[in-house]
Amino acid sequence: MNTILHNWNEVLKDMSNQVTAVSYDLYIETLEPIKVEKNKLILFASTLTNKNQLLKLHKDKLLSSVKEHFENVDDIIILEPSEREKYFEDIKRAEEEIETQQVLNDKNKLNEKYTFESFVVGKSNQFVYAAARSVAENPGKKYNPLFIYGGVGLGKTHILHAIGNYIRKNYPEMRILYVTSEQFTNDYIQALKADKKENANKAFRDKYREVDILMIDDIQFISNKTSTQEEFFHTFNDLYQLDKQIVITSDKHPRNMETLEERLKSRFTGGLIQDIQKPDFETRLAILQKKVEAENYNIDSEVLTFLAEKIDTNIRELEGSLNKVISLSSLIGKPKATMVEAEEALKDIELTQKQNLTIEKIIDVVCKYFNIKRDDLIGKKKNKEIVIPRHICMYAITELLDLPLITIGKAFGGKDHSSVIHARDKISKLMLTNKSLRTDVEDLIAMIRSEN
Ligand code: ADP
Ligand code: MG
Repeated sequence: MNTILHNWNEVLKDMSNQVTAVSYDLYIETLEPIKVEKNKLILFASTLTNKNQLLKLHKDKLLSSVKEHFENVDDIIILEPSEREKYFEDIKRAEEEIETQQVLNDKNKLNEKYTFESFVVGKSNQFVYAAARSVAENPGKKYNPLFIYGGVGLGKTHILHAIGNYIRKNYPEMRILYVTSEQFTNDYIQALKADKKENANKAFRDKYREVDILMIDDIQFISNKTSTQEEFFHTFNDLYQLDKQIVITSDKHPRNMETLEERLKSRFTGGLIQDIQKPDFETRLAILQKKVEAENYNIDSEVLTFLAEKIDTNIRELEGSLNKVISLSSLIGKPKATMVEAEEALKDIELTQKQNLTIEKIIDVVCKYFNIKRDDLIGKKKNKEIVIPRHICMYAITELLDLPLITIGKAFGGKDHSSVIHARDKISKLMLTNKSLRTDVEDLIAMIRSEN
């Protein structure tokens, strides 16, 4: 028996000797011990009246018995049903916050798989590879800053992590900071919001100025508020003057980034700006082969050629198609993946690609499906008739489109990326247990795919 229940049974025995049978049945036996938190035993009472009566009549007796039988407990907290509900909500909220934070932290950690060794070099990325390598070998000395730009899924994040992993291994004394620009913005906003300004500012500066290598991923998402960019400008200058290495990625050349301040553009132009292109067929094939080797997949080689020919958009989709083939074949228990699964996998992918799907189109379909108004869906209403479709909509967008979370958040009245993460994870979790929800979501996604 667990110790709480065991100890509680002792308390019950005690109390049955100290109070009348009626009192015992009504107020004591109906209590439910939940847990010990910060030296307090938390108990649920079945009604508000029971709680009040108990406190009025027997609190002292109960407390002294509890103290006797529970080590390290010096008080009791009794929650009646409405408090109990709030108690569970609070726990849930705290758990969700932790989960969200974990997702964010993971995003801001170096991924050990993204190395120079696992990066396939071809015509499309040989210059970026050379520049990154040279920066990793001579941090702060060669190209500063190194600015890498290119479309989604072409390997910017991978090469950035490769620099970080290389430096970590070969210059272990160097302090490396890898963050997304969203994280930079968040940290800065937190520092502004904090009660104890000085401490918060110091923490922020310690984090960003006390590093040897600063890597900012997706600078295009840095808040366009001048104060954030100003802080970034100062961070940049401080590090730059100390010959600390700065590496930045973006989806565009700095000159084409509308929301970026001129003086930042000019700083970026002071180093090396290198683009990363779409891979050619040979590189695509080599990437697939490398992945198959790394993961030990069993797959017909003609499938790889087929995928490399068909998927020329970006490397993320290329990898996605390979994963799809592998999961289709393991689903039907085939030891080796063949063209049959490849054809099947491609059908899905082509359908999504053909359509030029946009957030707007997905929102339209979701509104139609649930018969709600667009303004409600993207607005702030909190009733569940709206919130659930809203979360499903966010989930569908993350499934169907390869867009930054912050962009998705913006389409929903300027929500931040953690709201999108929350919605997406909530729906994917619910789909595991709730069959009717899963059917709804699957229907909806099929509908979005076929709507055109
Ligand atoms: P981006 O940051 O440009 O959107 P990523 O760096 O996230 O793209 O790359 C998307 C996926 O493609 C990752 O899984 C990455 O490992 C893989 N990838 C990209 N370029 C290469 C490459 N040259 N060799 C091997 N894998 C690559
Ligand atoms: Mg990236």
